[in-house]
Amino acid sequence: MISADPWKNALKQLDDACSILKIDKSLRDYLAEPNKVLRVKIPVKMDNGKIRTFIGFRSQHNNDRGPYKGGIRYFDPEGGVEYMEKEVKALSSWMTWKCAVVDVPLGGGKGGIYLNAKKEKISAAELERITRRYAYAISEIIGPKKDIPAPDVYTTGTEMAQIMDVYSKLHGSESDPGVITGKPLSIGGSLARNVATGLGCAYCIRDAAKTIGLKLRGAKVVLQGYGNAATFAAEYLEKMGAKVIAVSDSKGAIINPKGMDSKKVLEFKNKTGSVVGFPGSKKISTEELLTTKCDILVPAALENQITASIAKKINCKIIAEAANGPTMPDADPILYGKKILMIPDILANSGGVCISYLEWVQNNMGYYWTFDEVAKKMEDHITRGFRDTLALSKKHKVDMRRAAMVLAVSRVLEAFKAKGLWP
Ligand code: NAD
Repeated sequence: MISADPWKNALKQLDDACSILKIDKSLRDYLAEPNKVLRVKIPVKMDNGKIRTFIGFRSQHNNDRGPYKGGIRYFDPEGGVEYMEKEVKALSSWMTWKCAVVDVPLGGGKGGIYLNAKKEKISAAELERITRRYAYAISEIIGPKKDIPAPDVYTTGTEMAQIMDVYSKLHGSESDPGVITGKPLSIGGSLARNVATGLGCAYCIRDAAKTIGLKLRGAKVVLQGYGNAATFAAEYLEKMGAKVIAVSDSKGAIINPKGMDSKKVLEFKNKTGSVVGFPGSKKISTEELLTTKCDILVPAALENQITASIAKKINCKIIAEAANGPTMPDADPILYGKKILMIPDILANSGGVCISYLEWVQNNMGYYWTFDEVAKKMEDHITRGFRDTLALSKKHKVDMRRAAMVLAVSRVLEAFKAKGLWP
């Protein structure tokens, strides 16, 4: 989310792409509206015997290129249930564009339940009942050929397994793994899913470095938010020869200009709960982290981190948005003006959806690939997505974010026009 109203922000990005492509209002309106937004009541018997009613959503934005695809989050955004509906709608549209950029034959969906399980001390048994009742409520509109959800904020393979189980039994089968991705390996999950986003991000950075003639050997990398996406991006960039000089997490940021071993930093974080205090490093502020002179900056924590004033001070050659929406809209022109090569979120973090797609393909075949086979197929999608976006950025003389949207919108429109409108 990159503004107070994520839906407005999603529409603004679409409008920008439509004006570059000279798409008229009638088609723009078609592309903007989600096909369906389902709001469901989830009544659940809590451990104390009382019934509590939760609210859940599933937004299906566009399926012109294939079944809807997108995560399910259990979250309680500040704006409440009404805000969550807008957020889910916006996120479902970003999934449409993300799948199209990397040419995955799927559409865009997103869902969620307004819930903060940790804060409200929801027990595991209650969470399972909530998940199963939500799965029941959306079961008519999901399916291996209709809509394939996945994990998102505060959901894991556990919830995916429960949703698969409910769906399968409601549809007369013991196991229908193609209905959902991000499952545990034992029930049809894919190898390489855990590294997907970080590895995909590293592939994008490798291609970006080649584009601007930057040698990765010795290139200095700064990562914000040392979680799943950042740690694997760091590990693979290190394998490509780069050097991690600064990282951060929710407790603070650290730097060591000589470089730090990414795996040792992770071990330290796992042991102590934070990267702060890692031997040989110095604590710095978030602003210092983002504006440290480096070659590659990877925001991999939260949205709205790179403001216009930070953008003016940023001193790097490539930014790869592993996080969703880390750059404020008014920072984009500043970064473009500074000739920083920006790899936008819908491309930089698309490794996750690529491997979700490959998990679904394996489920449908009933045959499973090795780690290297999955990683190679994901690399092909990402590399083509990067190359096609770069070509459009040059052609239309626009930044990579707009170019990625132009690419995505034109691919969705092509599919829509090929099928036509019926009924
Ligand atoms: P994660 O929970 O594994 O890691 C997030 C990290 O950010 C944690 O280390 C946390 O301490 C840190 N953090 C939180 N607040 C911070 C702050 N104020 N400053 C610095 N660090 C802070 O999450 P993740 O899966 O790595 O996701 C990170 C981002 O990547 C999110 O925006 C997510 O939407 C996006 N993303 C992730 C995936 C994926 O497959 N993991 C896919 C697509 C997009």
